[in-house]
Amino acid sequence: MPLVGHLDPSFIQMMEEIKGMLRSVFQTTHNMTFPVSGTGSAGMEFCMVNLVEPGDEVVVCINGVFGMRMAEVAERCGAKVIKVEAPWGQIIEASQVAKALEGRKPKLVGLVHAETSTGALTPVEEISELAHQAGALMLLDTVTSLAGCEVNVDKWQIDAVYSGTQKCLSCPPGLSPVSLSDKALEVAQSRRERVQSWYLDVNLLNGYWGTERVYHHTAPISMNYALHEALRLVLEEGLETRWKRHQQNHERLVAGLSEMGLGIASQPGHQLWQLNAVTVPEGIDEASVRQQLLKDHQIEVGAGLGPLKGKIWRVGLMGESSRPEHVDQLLGSLKSILGR
Ligand SMILES: *Cc1c(COP(=O)(O)O)cnc(C)c1O
Repeated sequence: MPLVGHLDPSFIQMMEEIKGMLRSVFQTTHNMTFPVSGTGSAGMEFCMVNLVEPGDEVVVCINGVFGMRMAEVAERCGAKVIKVEAPWGQIIEASQVAKALEGRKPKLVGLVHAETSTGALTPVEEISELAHQAGALMLLDTVTSLAGCEVNVDKWQIDAVYSGTQKCLSCPPGLSPVSLSDKALEVAQSRRERVQSWYLDVNLLNGYWGTERVYHHTAPISMNYALHEALRLVLEEGLETRWKRHQQNHERLVAGLSEMGLGIASQPGHQLWQLNAVTVPEGIDEASVRQQLLKDHQIEVGAGLGPLKGKIWRVGLMGESSRPEHVDQLLGSLKSILGR
């Protein structure tokens, strides 16, 4: 079928529905909630380029690949970045953030909720409170957490949040849902200098996604249709039912692994349901196991990254793929490959 245009009344109606459903999934009333055209990293850049100006102090929490990326994006915006670091696989402790904020008034505190590279889920509320006490905006990466476990933007007082379509929303990659609080929007509107990115300038994007409906860039029409359907399915299942499903399948995997003498590498009590960091047993060539899983069993698992390279397998149980039969299939395949 031919695509409708990016200003077609039926498409504009659909944009409104997407905004409404995104507010439900993010659990927010923020008016400025919409999908940025681009993958999750575009959402990260969107938040940073709009909120950060050269010379601003920014605190970034780093416990894996995506915290590192956030720090680099902030640096590229000209920020003076203060890094709060935890070992990979561990969470960021609120006390670490409190210490970094002592005697400082940064513009923003950035945190990755669910670190996909390590399988750790950092609690957000206390860190957000500390950020606000220091007069900073709170920025949260929910690329892997959204629709897989609780994300509550309003309750946690998150000023800027971004996600991605291809993780627990189970949609093709290509859009990055974002939401800005009124306070964050004010910061973006009262900058000393123009936003250095024309494409990601919220002040211009507001003309298209807001009430004016003026052309800014051509929205990826088909991707927006896909997101509309993905969000509809998430809300049809219900947020809490969906989180519970992710939890149960994680628990099923952990129980099966434990029968084989295998465990989870990330911090106990803070392990992600949607990304399981399985410890590679001593003496096993982890890359060859991954190859056999892919070639002989049609199952793709991720490799460890950075300091966890060669030490873990990353098993995704995200969105539609979080199913008991998938867990059982992986456990059976691992059993036969490892001879356990
Ligand atoms: C995947 C991911 C990103 C980056 O998203 P892309 O869609 O690959 O650009 C950012 N943060 C986290 C936590 C992720 O898992």
